[in-house]
Amino acid sequence: MRLVMKFGGTSVGSAAAIRQVASIVGDSARENQVVLVVSAMNAPDLRTTDTLIKAAQAAAAGDGDAIAQVAPRLLDLHMGVAAELTTPAERESLEPQLREMLDYISNLARSIAVLGELTPRALDLISGQGERCNARLIAAALRSAGIAAEAIDATDLIVTDEKYGDASPLLDETRARCQSRLLPLLEQGVVPVVTGFIGATKAGVTTTLGRGGSDYSCAILGAVLDADEVFFWKEVDGVMTANPKIVAEARTLPALSYTEMAELSYYGANVLHPRTVFPLVKRSIPIRIKNTFNPAHPGSRIAADAVPGTAKAVTAISNVSLITVGGPGMLGLTGVAARIFTAVARAGANSLLISQASSEQSVCLVVPRQDAAAAVAELRRELAPEVTDHDVEHVDVQESVVVVAVVGSGMRGTPGIAGRVFGALGAAGINVVAIAQGSTENNISLVVAAEEGDAAVQVVHRAFAL
Ligand code: ASP
Ligand code: MG
Repeated sequence: MRLVMKFGGTSVGSAAAIRQVASIVGDSARENQVVLVVSAMNAPDLRTTDTLIKAAQAAAAGDGDAIAQVAPRLLDLHMGVAAELTTPAERESLEPQLREMLDYISNLARSIAVLGELTPRALDLISGQGERCNARLIAAALRSAGIAAEAIDATDLIVTDEKYGDASPLLDETRARCQSRLLPLLEQGVVPVVTGFIGATKAGVTTTLGRGGSDYSCAILGAVLDADEVFFWKEVDGVMTANPKIVAEARTLPALSYTEMAELSYYGANVLHPRTVFPLVKRSIPIRIKNTFNPAHPGSRIAADAVPGTAKAVTAISNVSLITVGGPGMLGLTGVAARIFTAVARAGANSLLISQASSEQSVCLVVPRQDAAAAVAELRRELAPEVTDHDVEHVDVQESVVVVAVVGSGMRGTPGIAGRVFGALGAAGINVVAIAQGSTENNISLVVAAEEGDAAVQVVHRAFAL
């Protein structure tokens, strides 16, 4: 099989972690073609990408030596791991490469300080350098462990547009480059160790795919290489039925559908972002989420096929506010909903949940808490004439609420799910403030007071014996 595997910053953040990576890759590469995608090192006391970005900003503010000052620590971090995991010959060839890469951005920072300006284009050159260092380190560690491997900069593979800091891939060009560069290596049994996060424009200028972009890099490579499966190695056993910090008996979901994954990530579960894995979803390539530090656990498999079962998981979004617009004159007042949502959008607030009863006497919506005051002010301004005429009587806000979402594609067309949710909440004395269910029936969302959020998640989880 052809597998593309991504290891995130913490999964490659120390010698112990990279040793673990080498053992996973070694096992897998015996029987499969394996492509690795790696993030920059996220060591407990030195987060490479954050450190580089902060130093670049300091350079723009006038500190020309900002990168030169952190470079020795970054070099030590990588060479310290190399001391544990690579042969002396590998170390000897690695060190000058790392020095050169760090020198390059140290010099760049000096120019940035002179110019007094940090363009997104210059920031991409600096922020992506952690991935380049780490890919070389990991390839050296793999070779030292007897696994044929080669570090490759994704600037040679992923062709992007010119939106520095948040670039998108040009998939046809990327496919051609990846196939011609990587397939010969795979056929020879070599593991390409590709930098996550970065790409390059057609003209060859380095870009980045946005913070956390290594997941996207991995999905792009999986899609253009027609991988059989794509693995995201993380620090958790997979997608859970609920946040284990809230629900002690939460467990890993062995299988879920793309649709369920999308619903879950929307509702705050820490899984893959649907936009990130879109290239895989489009080609129906199965996704596996596995734990780098517990590889024996089967993890979660996410694929196109529907997975039996009704409610699969319960999630919660906190730090949100509920805004209610109501009044007797809203009945039949055409266009009022459009005006409400336009006003909220004008305030820069994203509506996470919307509900209107068919009596049309009120509309409620949930927005991030930090945007609530602006949204309410904008709504009051927009609806001032209706308030004067008493068609709208109030624009109220409940500042601190939690949206609890029950997710599962099998809920579609299964009667009684909502009854079970609300029955369980009622029995526990938890008041439901608002409810929404999209007609896709993939999720039921409800709003409760902030202090009842955890209890609501626990009660619903128990009601479905998840
Ligand atoms: N190193 C990059 C970041 O921290 C990309 C990634 O880790 O996914 O944003
Ligand atoms: Mg990351």
